[in-house]
Formats: sequence, structure tokens, C-alpha cells
Amino acid sequence: MRSAEEELAIRNDVFRWLDAAFIGGGGYEISRAELLNYSFRGERIPLLDTGRGIRNPATFRSTLSIMSGWKKNRYRDFEDENGWIEYSYRDEEAGDNLKLIRAFELRSPMVYFRAVREGYYFPYYPIVIAENDVVERKVRFPLDQGLGFLGDPLQYSSDQRRYAESVVRTRLHQPLFRARVLRAYENACTVCDLKHPELLDAAHIIGDTESHGVPHVTNGLAMCKMHHAAYDRFLLGITADYEVRIDRRLLDEVDGPMLRHGLQDMHGRTIRAPSNRKAWPARDLLAERFAQFSGR
Ligand SMILES: [Zn+2]
Repeated sequence: MRSAEEELAIRNDVFRWLDAAFIGGGGYEISRAELLNYSFRGERIPLLDTGRGIRNPATFRSTLSIMSGWKKNRYRDFEDENGWIEYSYRDEEAGDNLKLIRAFELRSPMVYFRAVREGYYFPYYPIVIAENDVVERKVRFPLDQGLGFLGDPLQYSSDQRRYAESVVRTRLHQPLFRARVLRAYENACTVCDLKHPELLDAAHIIGDTESHGVPHVTNGLAMCKMHHAAYDRFLLGITADYEVRIDRRLLDEVDGPMLRHGLQDMHGRTIRAPSNRKAWPARDLLAERFAQFSGR
């Protein structure tokens, strides 16, 4: 068994490593292969256990990570609409359960890997287990640790509920939405083709403050920061036939290369659509948004 100090040093190093590998890589997903290859001072310590949904290194006192499966192959985790994860004890693995309960008692900072697609994950860290239910044999924790202080979602007041919903929407759904949209568009701006994930956003066609502004890929467009800002300010529109339109007044202006090449030259272009037809932007949503653009 490692010393408690060394174990904590490894956990902190894992978070730094995820910052570099995941956020530094554009923050949209991280592969299983990368997660299995993590090493600390030359010693390889896989961050996932590929055979099950929980990673308990033999030399650790408590759990290092929990992961969700993909679609039907979920492990023992369940996510509710408030962004809390429930993870059930394993049936015949007393060792795993012991380390899971110890993670709760020691408040060990862990990672929760949520599957984005087969073999790819979105990491949430540091996660601390908030509740241990020995009767139901499961633990619970919020994906966003800022929600932990609110306690049981069933007891929320209406103000707390509204706050929790906005946190869930912006902090939990947004990263997954971004991951799906950028992947569908193969990390390229749908307007200008710029291929730098660090300069790309997942734009909503219908904003997420609207009831039908759902975080689904067909309500999204991968856009560079410039075109996203122009789209949000109605300086750039996209028709239901996937054509780019630039605001009339902007077309008449004379200015430098950003205006000329970055905006005016985009007028009339057909957007770059995802190769998967099912991920194409929904025509009715594009039409609704375009009506707002042309009505100005
Ligand atoms: Zn662009």
C-alpha cells in the first residue's frame, strides 16, 4: 500500500494530466487508449479498469475512478436529471465496495468518466462522493461539485431547482453537446472550414434558454469563434437550404481582410455538413432562426 501522501500526489497529478491532455486537446473527448497509458514518475497507472466500471488500483486505499458504459452496456451507474450519479455496489466484489465506501469516508477526490461514444470519455474531476446509502447499497455524487451543498434534489425549493437546472444545463450538458457537435463536424467550422478545435464552439441554432433549444446535435453547428459571434448577433445567417448569408449592411462596408475574407466572402457559400446524415442541422430549426436574421 502506498502512503496517503503519495496516493494524494498521484490523484493531483491525474487532474493536472487531464487538464493538459483533455482541455489542452480541445476539451471534447479523451480516448480509452490515452487513459490506459497514464503514468506517474515512470510507473504506468491505468485510469480505467476495462473490465468493469470502477478503478481500484491494488496499492490505493480508495477508488480512483468510476466510469459509465456506453448505451446499453452501462455498468452500475445511473444519472438523474439533476446531474447526480448513483453508483451501485458491486455484487460479489467486497474489495471494490470496501474501497468505494472508503472513498466516501476519506472524501477522496476521484474522476468520473462519462462515455461520449464507444471508447471515448468526458472526464469530471475532482469528484467527491456525497452520500453512501448502506441500505440501498449505492453511493451518490453530483457531477458538478458546486451542487453538492444543495443536498437532496428532491428537497429543493423552486429557487434552488431553477439554479440547479441552469447549472446542469450550462456546466454538464454543454460539454457533452460540444463534444458531439465538434465530432459530427470533424472539428471544422461549418462556415469557413477552420480546423482548430481550440478556436471552435458548438453553436446552438435555437438558444438553450428556449424550451426547444435542446442540446442535441441537430440543433447545433460547429463554428469558429468569429462566425459563432456573428451568428449570435445576426450578422450571419444560415438558410434552411444550408446557405450562408451575410447581413446586407455588412456586405456594403469596406474594410480590412477580416471583413472581406472572413465575412463577405462567406456570403452564398454552402455550409460544410456532417458526413453522418442524421447529424445534419434540422431544417425547421434553421428556418426559425433564419427568419429572425432576415427580419432584422
Ligand atoms: Zn468560421
